[in-house]
Amino acid sequence: MSNKNSPLTAVLYKRVSTDKQAENSYSLNVQDKMTHTYAKANNIEIVKTLCDEGYSGTNTNRPAYQEMKKFLLENHVDVVLVHKENRLHRNLYNFYNDINFFEQHDIRLIAIADGIDSNDDSASLAMAVQAVISENFSKNLSKETRKGLLAGAENCQHMGEKPPYGFKVNHDTGLLEIDEVTAPAVRQIFQQYADGFTTGEICKWLKEHGYKTNNGNDFKANSLNSIFHNEKYRGCYTWDKATPKNSEGHRNGHAIKDEYIKIEDGCPAIVSDELFSTVQDRLAVNRNRANRANTKRYYPLNSKIFCSECGSKMTGNVQYSGNHKYFQYRCANKCGNKSIRTELLENSIFRMLGQCLFSEPNQQAIIDTLNENAKVQKQDNDTAYQQLRTKSSKIETAQNNILKLMESGKATQIIMNRLERLDNESEQVQTKIANLDRNGKPYLYTFDLFFLFPDVQLLYA
Ligand SMILES: [Zn+2]
Repeated sequence: MSNKNSPLTAVLYKRVSTDKQAENSYSLNVQDKMTHTYAKANNIEIVKTLCDEGYSGTNTNRPAYQEMKKFLLENHVDVVLVHKENRLHRNLYNFYNDINFFEQHDIRLIAIADGIDSNDDSASLAMAVQAVISENFSKNLSKETRKGLLAGAENCQHMGEKPPYGFKVNHDTGLLEIDEVTAPAVRQIFQQYADGFTTGEICKWLKEHGYKTNNGNDFKANSLNSIFHNEKYRGCYTWDKATPKNSEGHRNGHAIKDEYIKIEDGCPAIVSDELFSTVQDRLAVNRNRANRANTKRYYPLNSKIFCSECGSKMTGNVQYSGNHKYFQYRCANKCGNKSIRTELLENSIFRMLGQCLFSEPNQQAIIDTLNENAKVQKQDNDTAYQQLRTKSSKIETAQNNILKLMESGKATQIIMNRLERLDNESEQVQTKIANLDRNGKPYLYTFDLFFLFPDVQLLYA
């Protein structure tokens, strides 16, 4: 037992977390005042003060806390003084570890605001209750913090760390404002994409004009994509597509969807609704194109165009750059002449063809020829179809005969095997018929012609 006249020695431990809104009653100031007043009144001498600022109590990964444990092992003190138990831990397991540790080293824990002194007989129950409350409170912390954020979001205040590129935050109101230094780049990004430039070309332009992302990096396709999808640029305030983080800093995949906020005209627009929606349309087209790119692409100009350097035929091929596929015509001789993007070449050539070759009189002749071809192709298909039908009905007859044999009990293993073969054969024929139904129409002709003349009607289309 300590001498009544000599003061008890104590380590003072303080902690504040980053969730300021949820922990505003635990400011360092309050913790300081309360503990020092208590120490003075109870003849306690604070020999060391340790403070973790911006650390969660849910784990022990805190520098000042670790230092305290080390100090307690190397120096004997009588008391660990905290404002509240939950300053020490918000984790039941860690809390009880420390209670054991304190007992082993004959250290009293005093949590002033909880009225807990581990020297008291009734302390263990109170400590247990407090520890349970602390841990539960921690689990609700992110929810509480989120409520605070939601209130801010409903007023269209900026909630994240950095505002989206092109915006700045008014520090008095918390509202988003247009940053006229970076906003011109946002307008360029949208306009150029709407005009048909690729993300790569836009990134290059931004680099050449000295624009960097908020993090000071060069723009990449990914950074552009998040800009294209951010509705704040058209003046629609949105919050929060991301879900709240849990105490370990991980996001819960099962987001609370009804907490997603969307407010039209909730922030100033950097681009018009029209431009924003043009960009969304193009994004959709490119998504479809990317999906279609998995199937074989049709190169209508294959071997019909020639290299300007060596005169060889140019053929279509795919080039991969990062996650993107680019279709291009390339010199088959690989002489080193530049490749040409398929869309650029095809669009201009077809437009010229439409204007020059397919004049009114030519048009009729072309339609007649194509229809003649289509008729021939249809006849060929009809013949093939008829042959398959005949084969199919022969198989069916054979199958039925075998079934009759089986019913009369005369089927042998050999006959059974034959039935199995017939079944397989039947399946193959049916597949061929189905393919003919799907592909038998003069598909290519209609495709080519509609590409040039959307209003042309084909007899067999
Ligand atoms: Zn060439």
